[in-house]
Amino acid sequence: MAQVGATSPGREGGGSAPPTAARVGPAPAARAPADERRFALLGLRQDSDFALHFPLRYEDWTRLTRLAAARAGEPLQCDLRIRAVQPPTRTRQVCRLHTEDESGDTVHLSFFKVFPSQLAQWKPGQWLRVQGEVSHGLLGREMLHPVVRLLRAPGSAPARQLTPVYPATAGLSQYALRRAVQQALGRLHWPEPVGPQELSAALGVGELPAMITALRFVHEPPAGLDPQAIAQRSEPHALRIAVDELLAQQLSLQRARNRRESLTAPMIQRSDLAERARAGLPFQLTRAQERVLGEIRADLARDLPMHRLLQGDVGSGKTIVALLAALEAIGGRFQVALLAPTEILAEQHAAKWLPMLNALGARCAWLTGGLRAAEKRRIRAALEAHEIDLVLGTHAILESKVRFANLGLAIVDEQHRFGVAQRLSLRDKRSDGSDPHLLMMSATPIPRTLAMSYFSDLDVSVIDALPPGRTPVRTRLLQAARRPELIEAVRREALEGRQVYWVCPLIEESESLDLRHAEECAAQLSGLLAGIEVGLVHGRLPTADKQAVMQAFHQGRIRVLVATTVIEVGVDVPQASLMVIEHAERFGLAQLHQLRGRVGRGSASSQCVLLFGENLSDAAKARLKAVYEHQDGFEIARHDLRIRGPGEFLGLRQSGQSLLRFADLDREAPYLDTIRALAAQVLARTSSEDPAVPELIACWQGSAEDRLRA
Ligand code: ADP
Ligand code: MG
Repeated sequence: MAQVGATSPGREGGGSAPPTAARVGPAPAARAPADERRFALLGLRQDSDFALHFPLRYEDWTRLTRLAAARAGEPLQCDLRIRAVQPPTRTRQVCRLHTEDESGDTVHLSFFKVFPSQLAQWKPGQWLRVQGEVSHGLLGREMLHPVVRLLRAPGSAPARQLTPVYPATAGLSQYALRRAVQQALGRLHWPEPVGPQELSAALGVGELPAMITALRFVHEPPAGLDPQAIAQRSEPHALRIAVDELLAQQLSLQRARNRRESLTAPMIQRSDLAERARAGLPFQLTRAQERVLGEIRADLARDLPMHRLLQGDVGSGKTIVALLAALEAIGGRFQVALLAPTEILAEQHAAKWLPMLNALGARCAWLTGGLRAAEKRRIRAALEAHEIDLVLGTHAILESKVRFANLGLAIVDEQHRFGVAQRLSLRDKRSDGSDPHLLMMSATPIPRTLAMSYFSDLDVSVIDALPPGRTPVRTRLLQAARRPELIEAVRREALEGRQVYWVCPLIEESESLDLRHAEECAAQLSGLLAGIEVGLVHGRLPTADKQAVMQAFHQGRIRVLVATTVIEVGVDVPQASLMVIEHAERFGLAQLHQLRGRVGRGSASSQCVLLFGENLSDAAKARLKAVYEHQDGFEIARHDLRIRGPGEFLGLRQSGQSLLRFADLDREAPYLDTIRALAAQVLARTSSEDPAVPELIACWQGSAEDRLRA
């Protein structure tokens, strides 16, 4: 991600650390250097990082217990007086203290390691505060390596608060962490662009505390509270912190968005090229397609760069919408780049749409990593000379060597397969300092709460209906042992003139093993299905071969196509009516839904068969159940989110986008709208920005390198 910052400094600084962050910045070096390094491993650098290092759980050391009341296996705290000391010897390393409490009940304390300095302080008559568990051994009561502290007199106040237990790292003591957190809380000035009263009023909840109060509460809850209850975060303090985080996130996203408004983009007017294309389509656009096309056109006509996500379930017809937008640009003498994550998908787009584009006079080219160097050079030169209107391809288009004479629109298909930095690098492809318009497409529907939270600086268009005439895909779950029956079904399907995908899974993340499995499977199927043409396609196949196989499948010369997950996205062969997925339990939910979406595109009734192995994990069962029960991508996405959590779901981990640390979108969902509006108000309030805004963002985004950029 560092690359993004380097190539476009200061643009979009959604999360770039503002200069004013110093106010909450690095703490004075009150900590031991060795600890300092360990803190850094936990991402703890500035005071706010410590304040936001939340406890895993709490221990209750607020009470003193008499030995007589001790229950085996429960941690307790008591004050004990040393009666006798049995120091370690050369042959016996254990140090024993014989102690008694105020009632005269006795207990032996055993230590496996004592420092001479400790030993020197342990004298008969000395009082100790002891924390540990009592067990019953040969000598009566005993405690094994308890935590002890010297005490002047028994019975003085024990801890006033519950004791937090923090996520730690090797060599870092809880004590050091607690102290560092306490010190940080003592110094911290938490920026509050919206005060607690205003916040409570806006959210319509009872009075919320100030952030610092809420943080203190979470780090040291008062005695008498049930540690479990605090861990469940039902206190207003927890709500305050969650709301603060969501507010910081909204402020950050909306700032990025506001900054984009100061950028410029070429204005693209309607052209009759797009109209002519439409007139020639063999179908009518659905109402949903018309609507989103209208939204895109309105964006293109403005001099601000479009930043739009086009969402629609598998098969909802996103591509034609994008192409019509592309034709508007081409008609206006702009260039267009269409990016796909795999060669197969790029090839599909080419095969399907190039005839139409060529017929309209658009000059198109194909650019992927697999081309010969001379060919790539030729295409690059043609792009710079504006001899090409539309370039279609894969990551190769992103290379910095690829420059355009006048790029107006960049389209990214299956955008979740690209990193944030990759998507953003498209914006640097204009030479006059303005930005091209950016249209991203995704078939992974994003639930509203997530979209609002993570993508609120994107405009979203949704195609919410499928084209007419689609037949729903019937989904079946089948035990792997019933594979022979299934092969018979495949035979029938093929003999009746329909086509079959047979997908082999990822095996232990090893591509070569995958491949072997897929090859064996293809060989086996063609042996069993005598007289039926079986093909094989996988990621390692040379481009030309891939194209040949896909074309043969398209034309029906290949009836059964064995594939690795390369066909996961976007492949469109309407005659295919049966999708078999082997070891379906190894696929992700979104992947299964995508794969299933490859069939049911024509008029024949279609089926998706999920073969599953033995010993399924609970998560795997949940996934299979969800695809079995639901057809709707949004419903599937909701389940996926539940099973995987937002980070995995959005693919954010790899893209370096920061995740929420405390807030829970499900629980906080009712407040999202208000928080979003509040953020907008705060940003609109004064002409020069309130310094508390960048400070707050810096607190929550921490010292972590990952910055939210798009
Ligand atoms: P996806 O949204 O999954 O990318 P595609 O763009 O691949 O979907 O479209 C799926 C199929 O539906 C394609 O064959 C496309 O030509 C066809 N299609 C798109 N729009 C319509 C429509 N309005 N009516 C009928 N078929 C359509
Ligand atoms: Mg598609």
